[in-house]
Amino acid sequence: MQKVYVTQRIPEIAIKILKDKGYEVDVNPENKILTKTELIFALKQKPYDAVLCLLTNQIDAEVFDVVPTAKIFANYAVGYNNIDVKEATKRGIIITNTPGALTDAVAEHTVALIMSVVRRVTEADKYLRDGKFKGWEPLGFLGLDLKGKTVGILGAGRIGYRVGQILHKGFDMNIIYYDVKRNDMFEKDLDAKFFESPEELLKISDIVSVHVPLLDSTKHLINAEHLAMMKKTAYLINTSRGPVVDENALVEALKNNVIAGAGLDVFENEPNLASGLADLPNIVITPHIASATVPARNGMAELATNNIIAILEGEEPVNKVV
Ligand code: NAD
Repeated sequence: MQKVYVTQRIPEIAIKILKDKGYEVDVNPENKILTKTELIFALKQKPYDAVLCLLTNQIDAEVFDVVPTAKIFANYAVGYNNIDVKEATKRGIIITNTPGALTDAVAEHTVALIMSVVRRVTEADKYLRDGKFKGWEPLGFLGLDLKGKTVGILGAGRIGYRVGQILHKGFDMNIIYYDVKRNDMFEKDLDAKFFESPEELLKISDIVSVHVPLLDSTKHLINAEHLAMMKKTAYLINTSRGPVVDENALVEALKNNVIAGAGLDVFENEPNLASGLADLPNIVITPHIASATVPARNGMAELATNNIIAILEGEEPVNKVV
């Protein structure tokens, strides 16, 4: 019987699909993120054929060493910066991800962060709950209206496109974008202007929304220098990966009103936040929940398990990463 290890509880549908296929499935019984030592201990218990892992698991040579029988590590995420793909390739281990299933959920959460921060929703919510509301105020909680403003999208892939589509078609915003490659759909459907480097885009955007994968080339793509190029009235939104933004530099920029505010779902050293970040009034922060809808999480479960099944049945998985 083929054996699959699942590193944390995920939607039940995943376990059912794997069990229906006749595999033996072990799920980390505690609903918590395994440390590297705990993960290594768990994987040593049986000669697993496949591992379904999460973005919170660091998967590298040490992990591959303890489970040499594993043919696939199926990541339950689109981003796979938690996995040493080079090392896996060297060993002939397949790595897969779950693109597409969470595009709408992440794009919609991105728009939720934009709306919350520019219209000061969480700040006003707190004001009201704190008993400070004394009646309608002509000058209270003035924010930014989005119609006709410019959103600069960094990373014009699946999620970036969907964000651009919602903001262009729903809010009449102008879309500009930067990517390592041009995207025809952006230009045809969204009337978007392409920038070959981020700098010019940063200077003219009212909202900058980050949707690049975390790579060596995108680490600190937004740094102090880039923040200083942005308009004082602009907002930075990040639902990609924390280290794409230099979080300490962002705290300084927000403290000193270099930019107007930020909406963040991801952080450089999760679950920790940079010192001073949580004290800032001009941000909206969520704990890495952009894909947290039932259809997205079930869809991710189906993709991850289908990738495992493909490999264990000797077929090509749909979502093999390169
Ligand atoms: P995608 O691969 O469709 O799009 C990424 C885009 O970034 C591509 O167009 C690519 O060409 C571009 N890119 C790569 N390197 C670049 C660089 N150096 N400069 C500029 N552009 C570059 O991926 P996607 O499905 O849109 O997902 C994007 C990212 O969002 C994922 O990699 C993941 O890290 C993150 N994500 C976060 C959450 C969350 O819960 N917050 C959920 C899903 C995905």
